[in-house]
Amino acid sequence: MRFPQLYGHETVKQSLSLAIANDRISNAYVFEGIEGVGKKLCAKIFSQALVCQSDNAPCGVCPACIQARANTLPDIIVPKKDKDSKTLGVEEVRQQIIAEAYLKPRNTQRKIFIIEQGDELSPAAQNALLKVLEEPPSYVTFIICVTSKEKLLPTVLSRSQVISFFPLPYITVAEYLTDNHGCSQEDASVVAKLSRGSIGAAVSFACDTAKKERIDKSVGALINLKKNSLRIREMVEFLTEEKENIEEIIDYLLTFLRDCVLIKTDLVDKAVFSNKVSDMRVFTQNLTKKKLIAAFDKLNSLKIKLKQNLNFNATVSETVMRIWEDFHDEGSGHKI
Ligand SMILES: [Zn+2]
Repeated sequence: MRFPQLYGHETVKQSLSLAIANDRISNAYVFEGIEGVGKKLCAKIFSQALVCQSDNAPCGVCPACIQARANTLPDIIVPKKDKDSKTLGVEEVRQQIIAEAYLKPRNTQRKIFIIEQGDELSPAAQNALLKVLEEPPSYVTFIICVTSKEKLLPTVLSRSQVISFFPLPYITVAEYLTDNHGCSQEDASVVAKLSRGSIGAAVSFACDTAKKERIDKSVGALINLKKNSLRIREMVEFLTEEKENIEEIIDYLLTFLRDCVLIKTDLVDKAVFSNKVSDMRVFTQNLTKKKLIAAFDKLNSLKIKLKQNLNFNATVSETVMRIWEDFHDEGSGHKI
């Protein structure tokens, strides 16, 4: 079986290919992994391979493959929740799954149900699903995609084969971005490292220019803060303006400070913001690792304090002031 569109996940590809080659298809699979890692794409390719009429599945040219790729094959069903509902409930399971499962496939030999948002299955809906999982018609295969198998009842899990999708190496994510989104290698590397092994997260990041601007502005504000005390107010104003994105901004600042510590430790290759190495070298000239770590700790506790709903302005101002003090105390210039 071929998965040209699916980056990484070699073990998953091998195991599913083997299942097809040996004609040992489970009635239920749970595809488990973080959002955007490739579960849904894999479910789509795998289901296409299951309905394909060629020996070399998925051939991509038989009528079943063509319909499957166009999402028009009636034997591949993707149940949808009611648009006003937060969960995929019992009614949807009854109408879109149970009622359909006992009707033989129309165009092919199999009937596949892909539950793309398994996290949304309510416990009652899972119990309803269990009825068909306990004695499934031989032609039926379920693929339930979830961020964590803990979201499913043990009774559902025990009737399914769990396939784990681990976060992808950042090099694989970067390769996807350069191949498919025209990103430069430098941009792709930064975005891939920030996306924690998820191609989906990386793509939405790469397409979001506002995020890239926020990185530059956050890092710029911190670099300026080191210059003189007038910049304290500037940074507080920036953080206040970005109140809605404060958690994201703090994460960028933490990443930048962590990178600066790596630079001081001659581990420049490990830096996330590899496009800002020269800025980091200038910024860290008179700063010891100890000072960088102290600033990191203060920002980290700011993140925790803001989650506790403390007064935003007071907490942010206090933190920025303390970081400025860290950068400018008498120990400045001494290496540790
Ligand atoms: Zn085919």
